[in-house]
Amino acid sequence: MNLNLEGKVILVSGGAKGIGGAISKGLIEEGAFPVIIDPSEKEGKALVDLAEGKALHLPFRLFSADQAKEVVDHTMNRFGKIDGLVNNAGANDGVGLEKGSPEAFAQSLANNLFHYYHLAHFSLPYLKKSKGAIVNISSKTAVTGQGGTSGYVAAKGAQLALTREWAVELLPYQIRVNAILPAEVYTPMYESWIRSFPNPHEKLEEINQKIPLGKRMTTSEEIAAMAIFLLSDKASHITGQHLYVDGGYTHLDRSL
Ligand code: NAP
Repeated sequence: MNLNLEGKVILVSGGAKGIGGAISKGLIEEGAFPVIIDPSEKEGKALVDLAEGKALHLPFRLFSADQAKEVVDHTMNRFGKIDGLVNNAGANDGVGLEKGSPEAFAQSLANNLFHYYHLAHFSLPYLKKSKGAIVNISSKTAVTGQGGTSGYVAAKGAQLALTREWAVELLPYQIRVNAILPAEVYTPMYESWIRSFPNPHEKLEEINQKIPLGKRMTTSEEIAAMAIFLLSDKASHITGQHLYVDGGYTHLDRSL
């Protein structure tokens, strides 16, 4: 299947490591030009080298609206267009109801949610020109809860709501907006979370056993495959959808 992504310019927040890293790599393999917005210097550079320079690494940790505008300005100066946006950067930061504070909650929303809006807002004039696509990476925690992580889960839920909201608002421009909900994906973020348990290996095995399809984690590449398909014109009549790429974790019978 030819995804026709050659030469397409795609912003990927958190695009140097984990799920975002796999999306950037997959885009490079398809001949697209990812703009990798991620503070990770070494991994960002490795991806630009892999792309033989047909990628841009912007080592920003997204927080403020000004930074998002700067990202869009840099991209326009370098490539002159934007064909897609993958909002992916985020971290499960453990700001809970009991173990948390109003300040920490607001900070968590800024780290996990506000830049999804900022990047979409500042990219919009260019996405309108390209009839581009937006993919929001959310999480199954948006629909299941997790406990002890109010800020992150509020952000993940809002990302699902905004996916529908933007899909409607952007219908006149033929801009498609979809969300992916991963559940358990072994990434650097996941690894540091699992290490917080007294017996990480046992905990990991316990989680694997709860994943219906194959009793294993989803790979970052499996999430990337869906994201890249949704960005492509092969997904030309898919919009406003919440797609679970999770080996059946969220919906299938628990007794399986
Ligand atoms: P990861 O392994 O931590 O990779 C994320 C990358 O994004 C890192 O390089 C990180 O840099 C960067 N980043 C974090 N915050 C950023 C910001 N504000 N601006 C720019 N870059 C930023 O995480 P992941 O597991 O791949 O998660 C990616 C997305 O998938 C997140 O939205 C997460 O909520 C979602 N997700 C993941 C899972 C899972 O099982 N892994 C499950 C459900 C949903 P630093 O390392 O320097 O912070």
